[in-house]
Amino acid sequence: MKSLFWLVAASLLLCACLQDSPQASDADTLPTFNTQNDPTDTPHTQNTTPGAASIEAPKNNAQSTATLTATPLPTEAATSTPHPSATSLIPPPNQPTVASSPSPTPAPLPSATVTPTATATPTASASPTPSAVSCNATYCFSSACTVDFSANTGMAAFARAAAETCQANNEKIRIKMESDNTQTITIVLRSDMQNAGQTSGNLIELSTAWFSQHPDDQGAIVHEMGHVHQGYTGGNQPFWIVEGIADYVRYWAGYANSWSYAHCANGSPHYTSGYWCSAAFLNYVEKTYDSQLLPKLNRDVRNGQYADTWFQNATGKTADQLWTECQQTDCKLIG
Ligand SMILES: [Zn+2]
Repeated sequence: MKSLFWLVAASLLLCACLQDSPQASDADTLPTFNTQNDPTDTPHTQNTTPGAASIEAPKNNAQSTATLTATPLPTEAATSTPHPSATSLIPPPNQPTVASSPSPTPAPLPSATVTPTATATPTASASPTPSAVSCNATYCFSSACTVDFSANTGMAAFARAAAETCQANNEKIRIKMESDNTQTITIVLRSDMQNAGQTSGNLIELSTAWFSQHPDDQGAIVHEMGHVHQGYTGGNQPFWIVEGIADYVRYWAGYANSWSYAHCANGSPHYTSGYWCSAAFLNYVEKTYDSQLLPKLNRDVRNGQYADTWFQNATGKTADQLWTECQQTDCKLIG
């Protein structure tokens, strides 16, 4: 009788253990179930199998998830490759930990966290490139230009910046202006100038007084480079076009500043004023009517073929009509 009692008691205990065991070992068995039965499962296609659904339960508990997914699965790498974001979530094969398991939970989440791949690129391009400019005590040199700062040797930093501005922009301005002038530009700092800058042929002269006070006005150098590549001779060109194109070049090359950006006000209120309002006008006409307007205008002025009818021939409207339009749109917006 006593042995019968113990037999019954032992049976009851065994039954209880068998009922508990699937839940207790849940974490270890389900991943295996997943992989073996659904080898195509990827971190992005979860919730398609009962196993996956049951794994998701502890998804808010990182520790539980890690434990659940501890079994490395050979199909993981292959199945997860298609999505770039998955790659970053998969540890190296020898790494015992587990984030890489096919557990549905971790995977798809963060495309955002993966974008770092993109941020890695700049690092590569950030490798220092040798400067194209070298300087001694009174000159800076590059293949495009020479800067003579002997008039004020304290302006070495400005001279280097000027040489770099010249080097960075000379070829693109030359192309934009359809200039065949490939000679080196000479920039000379002078202490006896009234103007901030002036240009004659390939010689640009800059005022030490102005640029020692405004060393960041690199756009003025770009403006003068515009004059170099205008290549006008004879002196019969309209003032507003000469200065408007040069300021347009400054604006186009990205060197506008708080006072010299293309706009119509503050000393240059009309399209015939020259400088920034003329630049705004030319920019408007080019953008609205002909993306090649500037090279054509510059070529015709250089060749002595500019006349008052030029804009009518180029756009079908007189310059005054275009000015009226410009004031109603872009000129007004940027003024
Ligand atoms: Zn000028």
